[in-house]
Amino acid sequence: MPAPPPTSQPYLDHHATTPLDERVLEAMRPYLQEEFGNAASSNHAYGWRAEAAVELARDSLCESLGVSDPSEIVFTSGATESNNLAILGLADASVEPGHIITLATEHRSVLDPCRSLVHRGWRISELGVDVEGIVDPSAIADAIEGETRLVSVMMANNEIGVLQPVSAIAAICRERGVTFHTDAAQAAGKISLDSTKQGLDLVSVSGHKLYGPKGIGLLRVRKTGRPRFRIEPRQYGGGHEGGLRSGTLPVASVVGLARAFELCVLEQEMETIRLAGLRDGLWNELESAFPGRVRRNGHPTERLAGNLNVSIDGVDGDRLLADLAGLAVSSGSACSSASPEPSHVLLALGHSLALARASLRFGLGRGTTPNDVTLAVERVANSIHSQHVEN
Ligand SMILES: *Cc1c(COP(=O)(O)O)cnc(C)c1O
Repeated sequence: MPAPPPTSQPYLDHHATTPLDERVLEAMRPYLQEEFGNAASSNHAYGWRAEAAVELARDSLCESLGVSDPSEIVFTSGATESNNLAILGLADASVEPGHIITLATEHRSVLDPCRSLVHRGWRISELGVDVEGIVDPSAIADAIEGETRLVSVMMANNEIGVLQPVSAIAAICRERGVTFHTDAAQAAGKISLDSTKQGLDLVSVSGHKLYGPKGIGLLRVRKTGRPRFRIEPRQYGGGHEGGLRSGTLPVASVVGLARAFELCVLEQEMETIRLAGLRDGLWNELESAFPGRVRRNGHPTERLAGNLNVSIDGVDGDRLLADLAGLAVSSGSACSSASPEPSHVLLALGHSLALARASLRFGLGRGTTPNDVTLAVERVANSIHSQHVEN
């Protein structure tokens, strides 16, 4: 195992990715070494054992996701691919171009596939959210029209952590005969999730957001019940995953995804309480260090326990982040990696460009300690005071 980062560099960026849990690595290890068989090799025991491991993992994921038919779990390379498969796969299966409803605050891997459909004649409604980042389900109901084929609303936001009312939205979609997709990359393993009970037709999950390996994810594709829908594959070949996603399965990663999700579900209740305590402590300390100057972005309680996103009046966000070298957090201008544009999520809350830039996202997770929180407040305070002295 690589050495953990020194405690002087707290990792507070768990929305970007999470470290692989040791217990997950242990579950994966045999399939990285002696059990290297191809799960699609049906002629010998190497293949059979790999296939058995994959099917056990699929069953466990059904349990974690509230799905009864294991063939509804389609393994992908991650939530980006799952979102693309859900949206573009559904569009490809549609004879005529239609209409899709999504949110202005969705992840780029939802917004961009939707936008790519415009040149094929599709219409996309990107609905706004309230000042706390949440959509009103009645706005979805109002936006549904005869040609609406899909509604895609994320379960938990990756920047401000807010939880969307997906059960209510799914119920509206079901009643109106519209397929519902949710990007659950941030929510899976962190909040309770029952795809069947909640009426989630298509669900995207990513391994590396829940202490599993990178490069693995899944899409839940409901097969029975109403409304009926179909999706076309985006990738053709050996016909793996019921023909929806060809390509040799990364058996170790599949096993790791299942184990990681299981552990999150097992520990969810306790971990939620622990993280919310640390997160609230962080917020209280920041608020008392900068009275009246720091505001919390997103709904105060309808949010992930490990998420705090703040904007700080009168500071330069890029300077702040540069000063914070050694503190692994994200800023409001660096959320979608390569682009230095201000966060489209914070702009959707009605923030000015300056305030969107002057924001920090703290993502607390499994390894976060009270000491990390104390250090984070100290570093932020030092950085802001130094900017203040200069100005
Ligand atoms: C990380 C993330 C993704 C992309 O997941 P990958 O597995 O990295 O492709 C999609 N949506 C949300 C909300 C995310 O947080």
